[in-house]
Amino acid sequence: MTTESEEKNIKKGRVIVVSGPSGVGKGTLLRRLFAETEFPLSLSVSATTRGPRPGEKNGVDYWFLTREDFLARRERGEFLESFEVYAGGNLYGTLHKTVEDAVNAGRWVVLEIDVKGAKSVVEKIPEATTVFIAPPSIEELRRRLEGRGSESREEIDKRMAQAQTEIDSSDFYQYRVVNDELDKALKELIDVLKKESRAN
Ligand code: 5GP
Repeated sequence: MTTESEEKNIKKGRVIVVSGPSGVGKGTLLRRLFAETEFPLSLSVSATTRGPRPGEKNGVDYWFLTREDFLARRERGEFLESFEVYAGGNLYGTLHKTVEDAVNAGRWVVLEIDVKGAKSVVEKIPEATTVFIAPPSIEELRRRLEGRGSESREEIDKRMAQAQTEIDSSDFYQYRVVNDELDKALKELIDVLKKESRAN
């Protein structure tokens, strides 16, 4: 049973920012959160200039844009935040409209973005909920990235350096979930959402 005020809260749109180093298992965790819970979640589909990995679909995993198109949209102010995620690499950004439409429809919109992007969202939307998904250790993260087999060694090294920077600057997140064991991490994430839905 939910009380009337809890119901009102559940129907209220929210912004939930989830970050964590590449390879930490955010994708799997979020997929399970979406599939196995009844929160009114919707995933913000970001735009990126990187090419699709095997199996990734335009408009589902990302909006895959050319650099030119991305920069033109940025110029027009279409992004809530946008960053070059790996130095010298690709651009990633959250579209204003995606977030606004979801919140206006009463959805809890999940932004899976990097730490710089998260900081920038919190400046603009201070009431956003922020969760950092951490690996059990940096060595375990490298093992997972290597096991995934989708990036070159150079790319893995770049992502590992980025991971350390992200972990070092993750103090501002409201919640930290260590993805040691998937079921346990999922439960912790669900508890965060339950707590947030009661709090405001
Ligand atoms: P991947 O290329 O592995 O899909 O994502 C690489 C990194 O980009 C991840 O850390 C992911 O969280 C981040 N990212 C994805 N979309 C966005 C976005 O819209 N904005 C920002 N700032 N980072 C993003």
